[in-house]
Amino acid sequence: MNATFVTLARNSDIWDIAKSIRQVEDRFNRRYNYDWVFLNDKPFDEAFKKVTTSLVSGTTHYGLIPKEHWSFPPHIDQERAKKVREDMAQRKIIYGDSTSYRHMCRFESGFFFRQELMMNYDYYWRVEPSVELYCDVHYDPFRFMHENKKKYSFVISLYEYVETIPTLWDSVKKFMKNHPEHIAEDNSMGFLSDDGGKTYNHCHFWSNFEIGSLRWLRSKAYTDYFESLDQDGGFFYERWGDAPVHSIAAALMLKKEELHFFNDIAYWHVPFTHCPTGEKLRQDLKCTCNPKDNFDWKGYSCTARYFDINDLDRPEGWETQQD
Ligand code: GDP
Ligand code: MN
Repeated sequence: MNATFVTLARNSDIWDIAKSIRQVEDRFNRRYNYDWVFLNDKPFDEAFKKVTTSLVSGTTHYGLIPKEHWSFPPHIDQERAKKVREDMAQRKIIYGDSTSYRHMCRFESGFFFRQELMMNYDYYWRVEPSVELYCDVHYDPFRFMHENKKKYSFVISLYEYVETIPTLWDSVKKFMKNHPEHIAEDNSMGFLSDDGGKTYNHCHFWSNFEIGSLRWLRSKAYTDYFESLDQDGGFFYERWGDAPVHSIAAALMLKKEELHFFNDIAYWHVPFTHCPTGEKLRQDLKCTCNPKDNFDWKGYSCTARYFDINDLDRPEGWETQQD
């Protein structure tokens, strides 16, 4: 397939991304040899390139992010943004005081898929430093996405910290009003809202794992959406994450059947685990995760909601995994 792994990282992430790559290679890519694109706001150093190239079985590419994709856009009031960071630091909101984290979230929301190196590909699989894959992947998820017309996928879902996105839903509603043509008829609004769209329930797909369609992200619908959100300034006046931004887009602008939950991809990113519930599946895929750690059916997960709106049957024994 015309697909690539993609990682945003700093040079200092070298050993943490090395671990992730080894997992992905052992469990999947050593048999498929897909390319891997690394992106950074600063040039990658030789050590980073040497280690990662030696670990990836496909071809590696290293991209420097253009300044415009990693800085304050001209319409942002720097003083106001600074006051927000100071206030969030006092309130101890996670990454609330960080400028670079905000650039990162804005970049992942609106720019990674249009980097020059990404333009050659149709599908991506996002990999972060220090993640784990606990089971073999016995088929090609990229091919699965293509053959089943899937455009966005996830393994873990949860509620967002409301302090980081107080006005995100207002912005989304404004976008929906201005661009009804981009809203899918059979969408997943029920995943995002419990009152038909009036308020956001803060559910989102955890975007540190994503397999998705780059063509969709490069579409007019998605880029209009990002542009509208970016104009509203919440990446800097609040601390909007790329996870709710991607998730809301996928839930509203894609048809339900274009989303996918990869039950058989067992995954960990601190602090949550997705471990498949079925014992036979875990044995067939040589899994090493403890099913008790599976987050899917716990109270802070939104995956039950996803199952409900899609009329999916919950796996046997899900009740015993609730706490
Ligand atoms: P968390 O998962 O939300 O706690 O955030 P991470 O620290 O894992 O950052 C998310 C992704 O962005 C990871 O792939 C990081 O390597 C990357 N990242 C975060 N901050 C920066 C940065 O300042 N520069 C670069 N190049 N990458 C960053
Ligand atoms: Mn992370």
